[in-house]
Amino acid sequence: VKVGVLALQGDVEEHAKTLAELGAHPVEVRTPEDLAGLDALVLPGGESTTLSLLLESSGLFEPVRQALREGMPAFGTCAGMILLASEVSDAKAGQRSMGAIDIGVRRNAFGRQRESFECQLELRQLPGGPFPAVFIRAPVVERVGPGAEVLAELPAVAGHGRPVAVAVRQGQVLVTAFHPELSGDLRVHQLFLSAVEEGGR
Ligand code: GLN
Repeated sequence: VKVGVLALQGDVEEHAKTLAELGAHPVEVRTPEDLAGLDALVLPGGESTTLSLLLESSGLFEPVRQALREGMPAFGTCAGMILLASEVSDAKAGQRSMGAIDIGVRRNAFGRQRESFECQLELRQLPGGPFPAVFIRAPVVERVGPGAEVLAELPAVAGHGRPVAVAVRQGQVLVTAFHPELSGDLRVHQLFLSAVEEGGR
């Protein structure tokens, strides 16, 4: 399985390494030409405002959006989740997202004290017990559309007063507010690759 990793900024290496460990073939994507022949695309963490600008300046924004519209499977982590969302709260002026999954996200949703933290998270569809989830200035999912499925939530987060979703799937599009590529646990990437393979059959 040839999996593109958007390589404009952020934790590209870690995603590529995790995908390779699972037997997939990672390809770094920097130009529209790099999209040719991909079976799936990973959008890593980083800074969604910067990534949005770099997507525009590299000429990748429209081709990536088009590929997603045509059904390219995608996995977005943290800033990558923001890029795939249909609505973004607390976005910077001019920041764009792809609308590949019907969710509304809020950037930097955890207060200063909890800008970064790690916790053990139960994920539906993920056998093998809780997942070590690393959150870094993470967004949360505030709205989940009818076609999307919540895989994991955190209990009441400051300012929300109710559980918020931090992992969501809609068909072959998977997003997490945390960074599975930083935990050394391969299971979320495996879940994504299984979805890619199922869709290709
Ligand atoms: N706070 C970042 C943003 O809004 C995301 C952080 C991350 O990807 N670790 O884009």
